[in-house]
Parts: sequence; structure tokens; C-alpha cells
Amino acid sequence: MGGGQSGAWAAKTLRDQGYAGAVTLVCDELHSPYERPALSKAVLSRSAEPHTTQVFAADVLESLALHWRRGIRVESLDRPSKRLFLSDGSELVYDKLIFCTGGRALRPRIPGIDLAGVHTLRTLDDCQYLGEAMRRSRSVCVIGGGWIGLEVASAAVGMGKAVTLLERSTRLCERALPAEVSAHVLDVHLAAGVDVRLGMEVEALERSGAGLCVVSANAATVRADIVVIGAGLVANDEVASKAGLLCDHGIAVDTRCSTSDPDILAAGDVALAPNQWAGRRVRLESWQNATDQAVVAAKACLGIEAAYDPLPWFWSDQHGVNIQIYGWPGAKGLIVTRPVKAPGSFVTFLLEEDRIVGAVAVNAARELRMSRKLIEDRRIVRPAELADPAFKLSSL
Ligand code: NAP
Repeated sequence: MGGGQSGAWAAKTLRDQGYAGAVTLVCDELHSPYERPALSKAVLSRSAEPHTTQVFAADVLESLALHWRRGIRVESLDRPSKRLFLSDGSELVYDKLIFCTGGRALRPRIPGIDLAGVHTLRTLDDCQYLGEAMRRSRSVCVIGGGWIGLEVASAAVGMGKAVTLLERSTRLCERALPAEVSAHVLDVHLAAGVDVRLGMEVEALERSGAGLCVVSANAATVRADIVVIGAGLVANDEVASKAGLLCDHGIAVDTRCSTSDPDILAAGDVALAPNQWAGRRVRLESWQNATDQAVVAAKACLGIEAAYDPLPWFWSDQHGVNIQIYGWPGAKGLIVTRPVKAPGSFVTFLLEEDRIVGAVAVNAARELRMSRKLIEDRRIVRPAELADPAFKLSSL
């Protein structure tokens, strides 16, 4: 179920592992499976073509000999008879079922949210529609200072638009970044000309001439030709939940991607899986997870022993600045920042006792790769050494 990055990798893995039976991919979109990272970056600003996002080339997809059910949704699931009911009125039976249903953009319940000119960004169609609207606009108001909001702001500035970004928290990416890195990201956006306003809870969206007016709780207003909302993700777990599978804003799975029904698995953005770095079940909304978890789910379908409990990895590009994260962003502990030679480059480490549990690198991909090993090996470190740019991480 689901023809995105996870669904595609699950199907390919079944074939790669020698499964010769029927594989059906039910997908509510018409596009071939695509990856999302470029949708808020190069494809949005048209510096890359949409086809570059495809998960597999056409000949590879064809070689998988899938039964494609495009433009169709699974409406419900009857577990006792192992039967799926589809939106075109047809039914499907399965031996094993993998939920790769991902999520959808959260649309906050704000008056005016359905006005023309208010956009969210999740699918390739959303990206193309928003890209067209941005090209026709002079000003863009972004609501939400998370990953979508920040990357869209960056793309819009690159297209020469006047951009205002409203975030309700007092800092950017609060759930994903240490305060020090949030502050740096704020500086990067301000320097690029984005009018970032923190602590701005949006109350209403209103029509204002040919554009829109965004009204915040403290009565401040922002006028813009279009509004883009990046307020988070809602897991598409309704079919699973109605069928009685254990769900909690995501479908609960174990490290083998198995749900509370052994013949049903889940992978990708929708899967709520145990993660040792988070210390609990989490949904990893990342490119890495979309592929790797789907591979494990497909193997588990075939009875191949595999477990998935990864060190989370995540990246973003904004105004030419590369941000990469290893570890679970919510982790709390001692923060140690290590300057890196190039200006504007540093790594921030999160330490618990004398071990690194996470690292955030700003324009410092090489140092981050080194950090990965230190995290995974649970190497004992000294904060003063980490903070000293003359100290070689490789010596650890
Ligand atoms: P997100 O990262 O969860 O950020 C949403 C932000 O919007 C949060 O800071 C949130 O604040 C804020 N917000 C929510 N409602 C608001 C409101 N009414 N007014 C002002 N601010 C509000 O979610 P996202 O940016 O929408 O991204 C959606 C998904 O796409 C995520 O899975 C994300 O990881 C993924 N994505 C990833 C990348 C990448 O890998 N580089 C890029 C783009 C998108 P609170 O924290 O207070 O709720």
C-alpha cells in the first residue's frame, strides 16, 4: 500500500530477494514512485526536472513486473479474510501486506485555510502547483519554521521573492535542532533577506485585494501574494487504525517492521518503530528511513531475518548552507560546539555522560561522517577535546 519511496523499495526488495509471486502496488497518485527531498529545493525552483526525483528508472520498474493500481486508494481492510477494499469498488486479497502510506501535510484549523493561494507541499503535484504560483508572485508568506518552511523560504528568495516566515515557537526547528544551531539558522535566513518573525501564532488568513493577509494572535498582519504552510506531517494510519492495528499517530511496528498483526508490516513515514537513539517508538520522517525500513519490511515478509534500529540521519540545504544531523534530535544533554576551519562551519555535539548521542553539522559533512563512527561505537570522549579544532577526531 503506497507507491512512494518506501513502497517502491519494498516491491524491489521482494524481487531482489527472489520472490516470484504477485506483487501489487496500490497508489493514490498517478506518478511513478519519486523521492521528496528535491520537492522543496531544486524541483520547486526549477533548477532540476521532476523526472530526476524518480526512485527507479523506467526499465528497472518494468523489470519488477508489478500489478500497478494507480490513482486508487485502499479504503478499508478486513483482516480475518485478508481482504482490501479499494476506492474503485474492487477488492484485493493478500498473503502479506506492507503499509507504506506515509503522511500528508498538516493543515492547521485556521479560518481561511482553504482560500485560493494557500499552499501546502507534500506531493510532486503540490510542488509543481506551488512552483507555478511562486513564479507569478512577488511576495510569499511561509507559516512554520520547520524543514518545509525553511527550505521553501530559501527557494523563494532564490527566485527573487520577498519572503516573510512566521514561526509560533521562539526559535526555528525547535524539535529538531539544539538552540545554538537554531540561532545560526535564523542568522542565515535573516542574512539572506527572509523576514523571520518568531513567536507568531497565526489566527486567520484573509483575502486582501489580489493577495492574502495573515493575521497573527498579537494582531500583527502580513500581506503576501501567496501563503505556504509547513506545519508538520499527519501519518496516514486511518485504514490501519480502523482495522484494529495498534496505532498512535503512526502504525506501531517492531524492529522487524511487523505490526500487531504478523501478516501486516509498515515502513517509512507512517511506521512508528522502536529506536534506541530516541529511547522510544518514533516515526523517522526521513529519506534514509523511507528506503532502509522498507527493505527490512520486505525481507521480513519473506521470512528473512533482519532488524532495523538505525542511527537517524537527516539533511537540509538552505541558502547554500548544508545542515546534517545524526542521532535523535530531541535528545537532551551537554552541548559542545566544535568550530571547523571554513567560515560558518561547525559541528555541535550532544553528549550524554561521556558519550556522543547526536551531532549536527553546518557545512561540515566530513566532520559529521567521523562523528557517526564515534556515536555508533559509543566511544568515550572529553568535551574539551571535541571543542578544540586542533584535536583530531580521527585519533578517537
Ligand atoms: P516540521 O519540521 O514538523 O515543522 C513544522 C513547524 O511549523 C514547527 O516548527 C511548528 O511548530 C510550526 N507550526 C505549526 N503550526 C504552526 C502555526 N499555526 N503557526 C506557525 N507555526 C506553526 O514539519 P514541516 O516543515 O511541515 O515538514 C513536513 C515533513 O516534511 C516532515 O516530515 C519533515 O521532516 C519533512 N521534510 C524534510 C525535509 C528534509 O529532509 N530536508 C525537508 C522538507 C520537509 P511546533 O513545533 O510548535 O509545532
